[in-house]
Amino acid sequence: MTVRVLGVGGAAPALRLDAADVGAAWGRGGRGQTAVCAPDEDTLTLAWEAATRALGAARVEAARVDSCYWGTSRPPFAEGPSLAFLTAALGCASSVGGLLCAGSAHAGMEALTAGADAVAAGSAGIALVIASDAVRPGPGTAFEARCGAGAVAFVLGTDDAPAALGTRVTRTRPFLDRYRGDGEIDNRDLYDGRLFREEIFLPVVSEVATALASFDVNAWSLPDPDGRLGATVAKLAGAGTPASHAAYVAVGDSGAAAPLLGGALALDAPGTVAIVGTGGGRTTGVLVHVDAPVPGAAVVADALAGGRPATYAEVLRARGQLQPTGETIPMGVPPESAMFVRGADEMLGLLGGRCVDCGTISTPPSIHPHCINCGGGKLEPVSVARGGQVHTFVVNHTMPAPFVAPLPIAVLDMDDGSRLMLQAIGDGNDIEIGRRVELVLRKYAHERGVPVYGFKARAKKEEVSA
Ligand SMILES: [Zn+2]
Repeated sequence: MTVRVLGVGGAAPALRLDAADVGAAWGRGGRGQTAVCAPDEDTLTLAWEAATRALGAARVEAARVDSCYWGTSRPPFAEGPSLAFLTAALGCASSVGGLLCAGSAHAGMEALTAGADAVAAGSAGIALVIASDAVRPGPGTAFEARCGAGAVAFVLGTDDAPAALGTRVTRTRPFLDRYRGDGEIDNRDLYDGRLFREEIFLPVVSEVATALASFDVNAWSLPDPDGRLGATVAKLAGAGTPASHAAYVAVGDSGAAAPLLGGALALDAPGTVAIVGTGGGRTTGVLVHVDAPVPGAAVVADALAGGRPATYAEVLRARGQLQPTGETIPMGVPPESAMFVRGADEMLGLLGGRCVDCGTISTPPSIHPHCINCGGGKLEPVSVARGGQVHTFVVNHTMPAPFVAPLPIAVLDMDDGSRLMLQAIGDGNDIEIGRRVELVLRKYAHERGVPVYGFKARAKKEEVSA
């Protein structure tokens, strides 16, 4: 069965770090920029944003996704419900299948091939493939200024669509490339850059690229850790600058997301696109035959653009590598407690209780077991609208660590009539009464080694209500 690409989406985190700023701290130079997660972003929130955009472009409801395949070198739980949290926040059914691919920068290619195989075999009608990463380098390492973050999602199915997956080539070699030791949080630098280049990266990636080049490839995604080796391979295969280079310039080395991110950028034009990813001793290349622009591909570049300039010190703090001394304020409730177990669907799915008698939506349902309008006791869970406007707000200017002030908190009137009180993204400068907002998934806290996710309000740029 032919596996088609129904839509794609991309995402990048909020911060941009100038390589020269990193270089200055270590007495070196530096060129270009990388994308870095704000304190409330991680590989899961990036995955959510890219997947939400891809599903929207493909016009596929999350509830229709049969299986979700997520590749990242950094799942938010070292062991735990990473994939389950992601699919719940996306609004997938509880019957959703799939798998989490991790362990190396090759994880995104593993998610793509697993999703394609499930659709080809007929075990999934719609497969959602997501690759996201946020590389965390050790401070002072040679590759620190190139480590970036980003996410991309492909919606796969057999419906009529303008692009189809084709030939696949893979090679496995048992060598140590980029890795983290047992219990280590930061990525290690390459032990020997020349050895990596001459005897690991170039031979195996060239072998896969040469095998694919015989298929008359029009565009390549050939990412690499330093932004130059991919171009060398492309030249060997007789091609020009790979499409992945534009993603590298925008967000740096996005690890497991990089191959599919470069590929998504190239799905905007007819032709054959080769997506090649390597890591963890494995290299895989997949061809995509594009008849017409894939829905969502034209705006992937926009999703990577922008971002707020951040200083090196701010980035170190966001990554948790620079921590304040003194007391922090722990959450009153442990993440593994009954409140979080019973409230998980309510928080991740952002559910309200709709009154079967008068239609009013009460939020949060655990606090309002009866209708706030008529007092009725029959409420059915519904997913609250993701668009609305600011009813009122405050900006908190003194917050104890680990919170970061200023912290805006907004009361929102959502498009379905429900009212929510949520944190807003940013410093509050773009929040005003009547402002249109959209709700996006963010990390509220990270405590006892566990992330806590929920939705936040983000001011919509394009529309300001009168
Ligand atoms: Zn009611």
